[in-house]
Amino acid sequence: MASKKSSTRTSPMAAGASLLLFLLPLAISAASPSSDAEVISRFQEYLRIDTAQPAPDYAAAVAFLRGQADAAGLEASTLELVAGKPLLLLRWPGRRPSLPSVLLNSHTDVVPSEPHKWEHPPFSAALDEASGRIYARGSQDMKCVGMQYLEAIRRLRSAGFIPDRDIYLTFVPDEEIGGHDGVEAFVKSTEFKEMNVGLVLDEGLPSLGEEYRVFYGERSPWWLTIKAKGAPGHGAKLYDGSAMENLMKSVEAIRKFRTSQFDLVKSGAKAEGDVVSVNFAYLKAGTPTPTGFVMNLQPSEAEIGLDIRLPPGVHIEAMERRLAEEWAPSSRNLTFEFKQKASVLDKFGKPAVTPADSSNSWWPLLEEAVKRAGGKLGKPEIFPASTDARYFREIGLPAFGFSPMANTPILLHDHNEFLSKDEYLKGIGIYESIIRTLATLKDSNVDEESRAEL
Ligand SMILES: [Zn+2]
Repeated sequence: MASKKSSTRTSPMAAGASLLLFLLPLAISAASPSSDAEVISRFQEYLRIDTAQPAPDYAAAVAFLRGQADAAGLEASTLELVAGKPLLLLRWPGRRPSLPSVLLNSHTDVVPSEPHKWEHPPFSAALDEASGRIYARGSQDMKCVGMQYLEAIRRLRSAGFIPDRDIYLTFVPDEEIGGHDGVEAFVKSTEFKEMNVGLVLDEGLPSLGEEYRVFYGERSPWWLTIKAKGAPGHGAKLYDGSAMENLMKSVEAIRKFRTSQFDLVKSGAKAEGDVVSVNFAYLKAGTPTPTGFVMNLQPSEAEIGLDIRLPPGVHIEAMERRLAEEWAPSSRNLTFEFKQKASVLDKFGKPAVTPADSSNSWWPLLEEAVKRAGGKLGKPEIFPASTDARYFREIGLPAFGFSPMANTPILLHDHNEFLSKDEYLKGIGIYESIIRTLATLKDSNVDEESRAEL
């Protein structure tokens, strides 16, 4: 249990894991609040650490964050569940550590960039004074969130606030390459089980309007290849059953389906996360020559790669049938193979979604906390892509995706990713309210029954 943790803790570790534990004396006296300039400069400092895949400087990121944790008076330990991939675990002990804890998660890695296509170098964290924009890879995805958690805790501590339940922060590696050596490994660890997590907050997306977006589930990726075979022949001959013809019939069917789904989004009938998306990742065919391809030969093989994303409520059997009967029927000499086939269900066989209504006692608290800080949540959505939140939902834990960025274009993984200084600072206030509300057991907005559940 979290309450039994101490500086002499020698908990059993997952196989192959090494644990370095440093505990800091908790500052009793309140530190004076930081100026906006100091807060922004700390954000820039984190952004300047090059944690781009495929060679993220995790050591530098963790060293910087440990310094921030010290300043915020948090207990810190670094888990290396996989060598060279440190996961920083921070804890703010609550008055009643036997209560389920709240976990604030963020990933330290970022996606690569093409620096010459940026207005400012992606690791400069340049602040454009006129617009107030801070340009950096990771400014939206998601170094902002990790630093906002820490800044919010600093402020709460300097205001003398003490949480009832334990608050944990995790800074995890490898989210951008699937999270297998990050959160997927972490949720299986002894350390994680000891944390007794009741709710997880993870990343979301910016919104162009005033409302903040919040995500209660996400689409599951199916990555697959479809291979076609057929008789080769002269390029001048019209005949049935060539590999290209066999495959192109599938391409037509897939495109028709893609259009039907996209039209639902375009008309506003469905949100992006509520439809099945299908996109072509590659097309491979032809008989190569040193300068190009043989032009008067119809090849005997052809192949496509598809990235399909399925919302949690999708009829899986119907999709599998569509694939086997329309997109890759053996009758047309087609075969298919999954490169990835993630389940839309959790380990209990239920759709892996977190209820975003009053049936989930955490939900009204989150809604109320954002409101109290002057913000408003939009209609809960399904995240269109994948995040680490899926690993928490898979084991049955409630998890919300939330990054407080209003009035901001979506530039995750794009050139010139930026976040405005004001939105960043506003987000700290939002987390201050969220952490205060979620960490407090007695809340005037929660009835006795809900309190008992929490
Ligand atoms: Zn992210």
